[in-house]
Amino acid sequence: MDFQEHINQLFIAQKKEWKQLRTGLEQLDNNKIKEFAWGDVSVTVQFNPSRIRSAAAKVDTENIEKRPCFLCAENRPKEQRGIPFLDKYIVLCNPYPILRNHLTIPLHSHVPQRIRKKIGDMLTLSELLPDYIVFYNGPKCGASAPDHFHLQAGLKEPVLIQGDNELRSCLTIETENKKEAEDRFEDVYQYLHTRQPDEEEPMMNIIAYRERNRYILNIYPRRAHRPKQYDEEGNKSLLISPGALDMAGLIITVREEDFNKIQSQDIEDIYSQVSMPII
Ligand SMILES: [Zn+2]
Repeated sequence: MDFQEHINQLFIAQKKEWKQLRTGLEQLDNNKIKEFAWGDVSVTVQFNPSRIRSAAAKVDTENIEKRPCFLCAENRPKEQRGIPFLDKYIVLCNPYPILRNHLTIPLHSHVPQRIRKKIGDMLTLSELLPDYIVFYNGPKCGASAPDHFHLQAGLKEPVLIQGDNELRSCLTIETENKKEAEDRFEDVYQYLHTRQPDEEEPMMNIIAYRERNRYILNIYPRRAHRPKQYDEEGNKSLLISPGALDMAGLIITVREEDFNKIQSQDIEDIYSQVSMPII
């Protein structure tokens, strides 16, 4: 049985033995969606109330240090089982899914969310999961556990593998050779570091996947953690905290009023605030 089949089997087993996951998957089936288009560019808005924990997560250092880390083994739900990856990660079913077969892949050790030396692991995982995208949210770019390194993955959808477009920036690395992908990522990383020298890590989201035997990395450079609408009140408020999926083209709303009122100009405005233009 290959790795991807192991993961499918894990989902089947966990669905039977873990009610929280079952509920999450039923919820995913009932999530409403709206679609927007700008020529060939498309954005899907998903109403997903189960993501409120993540969208409203307080990820400042003080709040993070106070809470028990939900990715550390001792704090995970007792029903949650996983499959080892590279001896240092465990692949887990995410009980609050945005995507089909939504996976969370934490390192065993509690170390901060930093991608620079782990891009190779991300590429390796994409190789083992050819039907999936593997994604990374930087510590100030959608990660709700910025203190515990983790990747995520889910089944591929066309909306998630759109490269650069007029709404937001995306730098794409595409190559047959993994080492070359890692080297080119390092160049991009260094360039982004020069743009944000004061950040511990240049702000970014990444989506990795395999297609036609090639490694593809879509890197979404960021200049803001959340759009100003996140902190507004009343009619101007939109509780949207973008991560990799939102940057790609799948925007998650956790409150029904936001889902109902969001318009194409809000989407354009949010992208223009959080995406960093690359000249
Ligand atoms: Zn932890």
